[in-house]
Amino acid sequence: MKNTLKSKAVLSFAVLLILSSFSFAVVFNWGLDQLFQNYATLQQERRMQQIVTQINNLYIPDSNSFSTDGLEAVGNAALQNGMILHVQSINDEVDWDISSHRAKECQLMLQHRERNMHSRYPNFEGSYQQSVLDLTYQGQVVGTLTLGYYGPYTFDDIELQLINSLNRLLIGIGVILLLIAAIFGSYLAMHLTRPIHHVVNAAQKIARGDYQVKIQEHYKTKEISELITAINEMAEQLRTKELQKQRLTADVAHELRTPLCNLQSHMEAVIDEVWEPTPELFRGCCDEIQRLTNIVNQLKELTEYEDHRVVLDKSNFQVSSFFDSILSSFAFSAKEKNVRLIVDCQNFKSICLADEQRIKQCIINLVSNAIKYTENGGTVKMTFKEDADFYYFDVSDTGIGIPPQDIPQLFERFYRVDESRARKTGGMGIGLSITKAIIEMHGGAIWVNSVVGQGSVFSFKLPKNSI
Ligand code: ADP
Repeated sequence: MKNTLKSKAVLSFAVLLILSSFSFAVVFNWGLDQLFQNYATLQQERRMQQIVTQINNLYIPDSNSFSTDGLEAVGNAALQNGMILHVQSINDEVDWDISSHRAKECQLMLQHRERNMHSRYPNFEGSYQQSVLDLTYQGQVVGTLTLGYYGPYTFDDIELQLINSLNRLLIGIGVILLLIAAIFGSYLAMHLTRPIHHVVNAAQKIARGDYQVKIQEHYKTKEISELITAINEMAEQLRTKELQKQRLTADVAHELRTPLCNLQSHMEAVIDEVWEPTPELFRGCCDEIQRLTNIVNQLKELTEYEDHRVVLDKSNFQVSSFFDSILSSFAFSAKEKNVRLIVDCQNFKSICLADEQRIKQCIINLVSNAIKYTENGGTVKMTFKEDADFYYFDVSDTGIGIPPQDIPQLFERFYRVDESRARKTGGMGIGLSITKAIIEMHGGAIWVNSVVGQGSVFSFKLPKNSI
């Protein structure tokens, strides 16, 4: 049998049932034997008392003897019950022994009882035993009764038959239980392994690169349903990553192609003497080269963050001067776009411990996006707060907002809400990924709330203790 989960489940179930049936059988048998032994011993004593009473009634006081006819009847009955009867009156008037009348039957009866006991208990240690009892008349001892038997106790044929039938019944129940175990075990194993087969099939497809796979079946077992959810999520994530990779290639190719084409056409025009090699023309070329360099640098930076090759340079810095420098960086672009740029700080004297340059880079990314996606006359606000555990930074705008379906992917590399819009504004969709990487390196978290047409709030928090 193959080492499968199914075979293991069936085997475990069968072993468990065999062990429990076996223990039950042992206990049941032991109890049965004890019960029968007690019963046989009590029965023996009761019969002896009966015989004593019967013989007492046979006493003839006039002759100080016992009725021999009666003794014969009682002796024969006792022999049927496995007892050899010997009655002796006190005056030796009567000395009646059944073995002297029916020696052969007595012998056969003892052998039969011995066989009965050995058939049930092969190691039964029995022997011929005798019990001597007083015979009385009106309180006076008038004789002795000696009862011989194979003992300490024996089973008669009916008792033996009963105990053997009970044993056979037990074996029958055991076999039926085993059959039920095998059927139930197989059913259970099938029930358990079916979802695992689905998971294995799905995992094999994923391994072959088919990320479209999705396990549709629903199972009530908690662990199985969690496993299926995990596999489905994994496939979904791999699919998204694959799409991102494809988009990255397309994006990089597209982003590089435009400046390269521009450069090439400018150069060709100069070579063909269509254009004069003026400083103006070279400035245009220089801008294109700058654009290329920016793209390459951004890509390089992101890779460094993603590969954890950057070491943070943490220091204490004053929040007021931090925001001042940001305000002055954006003074021109905000004014040019007629966007009001303001700072709302809980306490301008606050000191923040973090990698100042990198956190500044994050705020710059968020503010430049906010200005970029806010119409003339709008407002962009930077907020700073702190509590015992965290520093909280917000950048809010009154711009175009982000559709809810785009929010989960917003921080992914090269994700742009609207390709044409982003290209027009010159974005590569890397800024937010870099921002997120920097904040996570600080042990913090970033999130966004946005309403289309009303604006967006990008918020992040940095833990104080881990910085
Ligand atoms: P990009 O360089 O394209 O701006 P980002 O990673 O900074 O790249 O931003 C990703 C996308 O998120 C942008 O293309 C834009 O669609 C959207 N986005 C970012 N910030 C805002 C904002 N404040 N308002 C509206 N859309 C935004």
